[in-house]
Amino acid sequence: MIDERDRRHLERCVELASDAVKAGNEPFGSVLVSGDGAVLFEAFNEVGGGDATRHPEFAIARWAAERLRPDERAAATVYTSGEHCPMCSAAHAWVGLGRIAYASSAAQLGEWQAELGAAPFPVRSLSINEIAPKVPVDGPDPALANRVRELHRQAQMAKSRA
Ligand SMILES: [Zn+2]
Repeated sequence: MIDERDRRHLERCVELASDAVKAGNEPFGSVLVSGDGAVLFEAFNEVGGGDATRHPEFAIARWAAERLRPDERAAATVYTSGEHCPMCSAAHAWVGLGRIAYASSAAQLGEWQAELGAAPFPVRSLSINEIAPKVPVDGPDPALANRVRELHRQAQMAKSRA
C-alpha cells in the first residue's frame, strides 16, 4: 500500500526524473529513506554521458553499501519514479536494502516505450520480485504514473529531435 508519506517521497522522485530529462538523461529519479523516515540520498538517471548503467537505483545500492550497516539497509525504503530494472533489482537485493515503492511499473514502461516507438531495451523487462523475490514492493500510483509517462514522452521527443 502506498500511503500519503510514500506519495510525498514519490513526488520527489518524479521531480528528480524531470531534472534528469532536463540534463539530457532518461526520466528516472530515486530517493533512499531511512527506517525512521529521514531522506539519506537522492539520485537521478545519468546515462546521458554514455554509461548506460548509471541508474539512480544502482547509485543508491552502492551508496548504501558504503555507508549503512546491514540493519540500517534492511530498514530503509527506496522510492523510485519507475520500477527497478533487473540490474538494479539485483544490486538492491545483493546489498540487503529493504522495501521498494515505485510510481510506475516496468510493465507500464514497456507499454509506453512501445507507444512512443522507442528502441527496445537490451535487457528483458522483469518485475522486481522476479529478480529479488524477498523484497517488499508497492506500486504503481496511478496519478504519479501519468506524470512519469509524460516525462517519457518528453524524453522521447527530445531524442527524436537530436
Ligand atoms: Zn536500473
